[in-house]
Amino acid sequence: MKKSEELMKKLKYQRKHFWKVSSIKEKKEAFGFAENYKSFLNSCKTVRESIEYFEKELEKRKFSDISKNRKENKVFRISRNKNAAIAVIGKKPISEGVNLIVSHIDSPRVDLKQNPLFEDDTTNLGLMKTHYYGGIKKYQWLSTPLALHGVIVKPGGKIVKVSIGEDENEPVFTMPDLLPHLARKEQYTKKIGEAINADTMKLFFNSIPYIENKDKDVKEAVKLNALILLNEKYGVVEENLLSAELELVPAGKARDCGIDKSMILAYGQDDRVCVYTSSKAVFDVNDLKKTAIVYLADKEEIGSESNTGAKSVFIIDFIADLLKYNKESFDSSTLRKTLINSQIISADVNAGINPNFPQVHEKENAVHLGFGVSVTKYTGSGGKSGSNDANAEFNAKIIDLFNQEKINWQIGALGKVDEGGGGTIAKFMAEHGAEVIDCGPGVLSMHALYELTSKADVYSAYKAYKAFFEKA
Ligand code: MN
Ligand code: MN
Repeated sequence: MKKSEELMKKLKYQRKHFWKVSSIKEKKEAFGFAENYKSFLNSCKTVRESIEYFEKELEKRKFSDISKNRKENKVFRISRNKNAAIAVIGKKPISEGVNLIVSHIDSPRVDLKQNPLFEDDTTNLGLMKTHYYGGIKKYQWLSTPLALHGVIVKPGGKIVKVSIGEDENEPVFTMPDLLPHLARKEQYTKKIGEAINADTMKLFFNSIPYIENKDKDVKEAVKLNALILLNEKYGVVEENLLSAELELVPAGKARDCGIDKSMILAYGQDDRVCVYTSSKAVFDVNDLKKTAIVYLADKEEIGSESNTGAKSVFIIDFIADLLKYNKESFDSSTLRKTLINSQIISADVNAGINPNFPQVHEKENAVHLGFGVSVTKYTGSGGKSGSNDANAEFNAKIIDLFNQEKINWQIGALGKVDEGGGGTIAKFMAEHGAEVIDCGPGVLSMHALYELTSKADVYSAYKAYKAFFEKA
């Protein structure tokens, strides 16, 4: 090796390509890991379904509900069927600080409106009105098969679960787009963000009218038939829909992508990729010094609001209860010190460079698919607005740790400076005084119906989170 090459190798930062630097065993593990991840994605299309999945997993893995106070070191709390905290208590006092990974279990989707069902006068079709959730590109959601998921709560509190369209024998739904032949004025002359009005996103629900004897003039006969079908299937009346949570998600399954099967194409990877990898990490940790916590938060896509979002008191309350559970003092001063002593990874996806649109990324600072989990100092948009901007000391500590543990990692910022931007939960967690950094895999087509990840990065995220819990 030439002297210059030697110096370059020693001095220059170089991303490492997972498929080039990893052993055959590691590559196999990455592929194996992806299989379980894909089945997780297929069974967890919504927030509630994800929580249900974890209820079962936690029971299987002998975690106990923290309120039951059983003196075990593996505890959890689930709140309102929409968020969860999972903890493995370490040997050190909790008040010396915990290692927490927070990710969000909600993904962009299209919700039904409160009063959704009506019969269209012109076509006599049964339609459902919708209201999208999170930052979607509306045109992507038209003319594609959609599955209906959610819950309807009946008077008296009985919850009826709805899931139509995932099984191949079940019907799917769709919101038909306009044909190109007639889109000249209505769509092509408009800016892409304005071309689809939310009012045009109506779901085709049914088309056969209710017919009584030979009386063909039943009013709203198609709507009536829809109500009859819903009543037969779920025992509900229209009024029950007004309080229901019914959500449309892409009806397809998670698939391998590329002829080498190195990538995963699936709905909801933002941020269920971090939900899966961080929870798998906490399930697999051994011999912990510091207490490890995974926090699965709802409502990130609409600003982390509400009693199930990251801005709520849920996780802080859980940590207080953890102090109490561990027989430590849990007064407000101890709780504050615990939080200040803590280290948090805000586990969320980052934007991988898309070779079809390289102009929005800055190559040296962007996430490259297949080069490992991204360590992201700051997010935000235009001048770091709304960003946590991790402290250099903590950032360097995480990089050190990943190097020592041979984790495939890279730095990654979200696009060029003035290109746009976005935030994560990091800033809300940092408000409590802990060190916080963003760290997660890169994704292409973020917020699209089907998002693209690399099996290398998914696996690297899992390894990184496990190392954080065990060694940070
Ligand atoms: Mn996200
Ligand atoms: Mn998102």
